[in-house]
Amino acid sequence: ATPTSIMVGTGRAAEMGVLFRKGDALQMLQEAKVVALDKTGTLTQGRPELTDLITAEGFDSDTVLRLVAALEAQSEHPIAEAITRAAAQKGLKSSEVTAFSSLTGYGVEANVDGRRVLVGADRLMAREGIDMGGLAETGDALGRKGRTPLYAAIDGKIAAAIAVSDPIKPATPQAIAALHGLGLSVAMITGDNQGTAQAIASELGIDIVVAEVLPEGKVAALEELRKRGKLAFVGDGINDAPALATADVGIAIGTGTDVAIEAADVVLMSGELTGVVNAFDISTRTMRNIR
Ligand code: ADP
Ligand code: MG
Repeated sequence: ATPTSIMVGTGRAAEMGVLFRKGDALQMLQEAKVVALDKTGTLTQGRPELTDLITAEGFDSDTVLRLVAALEAQSEHPIAEAITRAAAQKGLKSSEVTAFSSLTGYGVEANVDGRRVLVGADRLMAREGIDMGGLAETGDALGRKGRTPLYAAIDGKIAAAIAVSDPIKPATPQAIAALHGLGLSVAMITGDNQGTAQAIASELGIDIVVAEVLPEGKVAALEELRKRGKLAFVGDGINDAPALATADVGIAIGTGTDVAIEAADVVLMSGELTGVVNAFDISTRTMRNIR
């Protein structure tokens, strides 16, 4: 493509709310074979709601929710917000929290009202040696519905299986179909549970699922995908910045964090994935000199 056609393509993209920050991204994008998308906040709204709380024998659901919400009030994870919102709606009062710690990719723990409370993924319970009993299957079943299962433990005993559900953004299904129409393989990368990720992927027709990835593992997961051909990655979060820099073309959702936007080659003004399709389309047209 000539410098003029790249300028025209970049300008046309900008009119459609797609900002190419580098000319070579416009050239590179149409060479991509795989597009990998972050799940939370990219494919989904990133604003989950609490849907389930199933207690173990000997535990009362309001008590568990109150203790768990007090702990989550210290965390900034979207899951934490879903839980604190649910407790507030039920009018449950917060309690005193000490010795809080956040275990990235696992969950959170603290002392609440003098009790040791843990909330997080099954791998957190495994790591702490907590037997999940029959609630393990309860959580797996919630995962198969596309909800994210979490577990709460109180004083070393499993207390509840909890689930949150994060709605898929309205334009996500059409965007995935359009990317397939362009001949791309579509992958999803997430720190979320394997079963949950699989359920959402099959609902959306996503080809490749990489789940239970710790934040520091996203780059390695992308390097693996890159073996299939040139790779574009779409993300929104702080922990997506290294992945955005690693991909051949990093695409940030404009409604995402500043750190992600700074690390990206392409920025979408809208929060919907329609912009990803437009970006591919403009790249192809520019390189083939189609008007
Ligand atoms: P993602 O942003 O893709 O969900 P994270 O690494 O932030 O990935 O989280 C991975 C998993 O760790 C979550 O799905 C959840 O199971 C657990 N987790 C993280 N933070 C919390 C929290 N504040 N409360 C409960 N679980 C959490
Ligand atoms: Mg995200």
